[in-house]
Amino acid sequence: MSLLIKNGKVILSEKSDMLDIFIEDEKITKIGKNLEIDADKIIDAEGKLVLPGGVDVHTHMSLDLGEYVAVDDFYTGTVAASHGGTTTIVDHIASLSKGSSLRDMISHYHDLADGKAVIDYSFHGALYELDDDLLEEIKDIYDIGIVSLKIYTTYSGKLDDGEMLRVLKRAKETGTVVCVHCENDRAIEELRREAIINNNLSPIYHAKTRPNETEAEAINRLIYLSEIAGCPKLYIVHTSTKEGLEEIKRARARGVKNLFCETCTQYLTLDESKYLEGGNAEGIKYIMSPPLRKEEDIEALWDGVKNGDVDVIATDHCPFFYELDKLPHKDNFTAAPGGAPGVEERLEVIITEGMKRNIPIEKLVELLSQNPSKIFGLYPKKGEIAVGFDGDIAILKYEDYTIKQENRHSNCDYTTYENYEAKVKVETVISRGEIILDKEIYSATKGRGKFIQRKF
Ligand code: MN
Ligand code: MN
Repeated sequence: MSLLIKNGKVILSEKSDMLDIFIEDEKITKIGKNLEIDADKIIDAEGKLVLPGGVDVHTHMSLDLGEYVAVDDFYTGTVAASHGGTTTIVDHIASLSKGSSLRDMISHYHDLADGKAVIDYSFHGALYELDDDLLEEIKDIYDIGIVSLKIYTTYSGKLDDGEMLRVLKRAKETGTVVCVHCENDRAIEELRREAIINNNLSPIYHAKTRPNETEAEAINRLIYLSEIAGCPKLYIVHTSTKEGLEEIKRARARGVKNLFCETCTQYLTLDESKYLEGGNAEGIKYIMSPPLRKEEDIEALWDGVKNGDVDVIATDHCPFFYELDKLPHKDNFTAAPGGAPGVEERLEVIITEGMKRNIPIEKLVELLSQNPSKIFGLYPKKGEIAVGFDGDIAILKYEDYTIKQENRHSNCDYTTYENYEAKVKVETVISRGEIILDKEIYSATKGRGKFIQRKF
């Protein structure tokens, strides 16, 4: 099977040009002007944007929280992702049960994803408790391609500072990337206790009980812990505040190395007024942690995107049903499951916003595809249009269209981007040389996605 994509505006690393791309079997084998090659299929991309397929390194398919389970599995979630131009995901695994080994947790996720995913995928390891065996296993899972893992400073699976330091030291030895959800657990617990006593339970109190300082403090603490450990690769997930980003910038300015900053689509586009508009029944849709912030946080994060302080834009896709799971708790935010969909909207929304802000598309592609690939060991396979890379491509046309629940593909029953006016639309998606979306025709077969053994 060979495929020739002609005349598109191709977004390469740091530049773009009108080029043709030739894909043979699964890989890109030639890039050039006016390629005269016979191909089994030719796509005319004139007037369109040709991007490397999106790499979303923060999703939670089938996340099992006990009382609630995220409503996209690896099939529906990757169908949604690919409709939005994303061709690779790296999913954060849930805890299995106390005492589970990392190998068991990973093997459970293979069971969840294999035979379901329609695009390529990998998993981050996760530590919800710590002992010597788990520390030892960090190397074992590294050797089978799980070169990153997640730890939490809050929730029931949190580690304490000493445990986090041990993880960081071990990660320094193995080369593992440590992803951290940074929020000050005890401060939030206290603020929630006060809110409950005062009956302040409407959705806006979700934001008020997780103030910016709770994120910034935890980011700062993790950075200092990583310095004590000798600066392993530390990746701050879903940075949502101006203050949090400031901590990262300050650390880099004093010479801290191997520090990466992720934010997500929602923290660049939606603010806390969403908790108030439309009353509690609307506001409850946006319960996610960290919460939506203020306009000034959004602006600070966009500055970070522009000047390179933010490395990655991901989604934290973790959907729960509105009618069934969220709405019953509209008057008590503490009882609603935390998380929202977003895996489908990322490319279209971020590119639209980037155009409004005159940010070069090359810069956006860096944060949507290239950097996440490099940081997490998917490079030089994913995240770039270059010879030798996988034939993972998203072709977007310039078109005004409105994002609505009725044109979404997730299993979830709402989108947080309802009525968003996009300026670009994903038209064609190619995964390892196979056209899986061609205008309105979707042809990805269940289970065609492959697990990627990552490495550096
Ligand atoms: Mn999180
Ligand atoms: Mn998450």
